Amino acid sequence: MVVLFFLVFWFLALAALWLAKKTLFLATWREPYFSDTPVLIESDDWGPGGDFHAERLQQLLGMLAQHRDVVNRTAVLTADTVLAVPDVAEIEAAATAQYFRRMLDKDFPIIYHAMQQGIAQDTLVPQLHGLEHLNGKAFAALCHQQDERLTNARSTKGWWDWESLDSPLQGHYVDGRSLPTTAIAPSEANEIVSTAMDCFTKLFGYPSLSTVAPCYLWNDDIEYNWQQHKVIAIQTAGYRCTGRDESGHYFQDPPLIRVGTANRFKQIYLVRNVMFEPTDGKNTPQSAFAEAEIAYRQALPISISTHRYNYTRSAEQCQQSIAGLDQLLTQISSKLPKVRFLASPELGEFLQTNPSDIVNHFNQMRWPTLTRASTYRKVGAFLSRLYYRHPKLALIGYCTGLIIPAWLICKTST
Ligand SMILES: [Zn+2]
Repeated sequence: MVVLFFLVFWFLALAALWLAKKTLFLATWREPYFSDTPVLIESDDWGPGGDFHAERLQQLLGMLAQHRDVVNRTAVLTADTVLAVPDVAEIEAAATAQYFRRMLDKDFPIIYHAMQQGIAQDTLVPQLHGLEHLNGKAFAALCHQQDERLTNARSTKGWWDWESLDSPLQGHYVDGRSLPTTAIAPSEANEIVSTAMDCFTKLFGYPSLSTVAPCYLWNDDIEYNWQQHKVIAIQTAGYRCTGRDESGHYFQDPPLIRVGTANRFKQIYLVRNVMFEPTDGKNTPQSAFAEAEIAYRQALPISISTHRYNYTRSAEQCQQSIAGLDQLLTQISSKLPKVRFLASPELGEFLQTNPSDIVNHFNQMRWPTLTRASTYRKVGAFLSRLYYRHPKLALIGYCTGLIIPAWLICKTST
């Protein structure tokens, strides 16, 4: 009698939820769900730097080479790469405010060579971050005005680290000279994207099928230009920022992005969901693994965000970051099933075209394709997505007791 009461009660509760949340349930159900556990390591800001960056990168890639997935592929760094930095001396010498750049391949051959080695060894896949990590036109104008924000850049001889620039000036597809930032003109967007795509293909032998905007700042116009240059996937942190307001706060539009969502140009969004930035003092291998486990329960790709600065500041910070990432990957491989190391353009291509193989286009290596979750696994992961994303639904689950059958399905489906 009690059992019958609960069954009828749950049925009615589910019917009410369906009526209230049908759109949300359908949208969540239509997202991609994986049977494998794709593991991606997204690392922003590689590119021009001090020669010692090459050695640090080699150490990082050497560690990745020690990890193997279920198809015997090594862990692979998706290196989000900027292709150039300002040629400050040349900009200063010009009679008018014009931008000149120093290129990764010609002016930073040691780091470029280290990246190429990583590509050949399948421990590094390049992905376009930006032509540079700033707005060239704005940079040249400030340089000619002798703006104090560029004092460091103008006085440093040799290589100068763009990471020391004021944060609003680090945006690439916006002009951050004054706040609020302004979007760059469509003609400028077209020129920057087209130059970047041509340079990227020349440097690495294949176009960047996916990309991530510096400072997560981009808009529809930039997406349109990316689409014109064959970009099929856009890496995000779960939102898009189109600018910064008067006080420097990021303006999000849309504020929430899920993996596999398509934009108006049919490009697929990817989402980073594990933070491993130990140099900030916020993340540990344990906190990152907890996030990885939550992604696994939801049958989502595990996409680890770990910026270059974790590996290019002090030698001690670099060693700690490499050891921490090593520990995180060991935990993921030993505790989660069917791990597949993957680079972001490969995941984007899988979601767009369902290929028969996963292909690393930069070195022609091929790996078996990914598998999607079976219906039962998908139901468990679907319930987990609702639980983790929507606290009110989780509360309703607890109040109605629906959490019990949901928990049982989640437990038995993983
Ligand atoms: Zn960046």
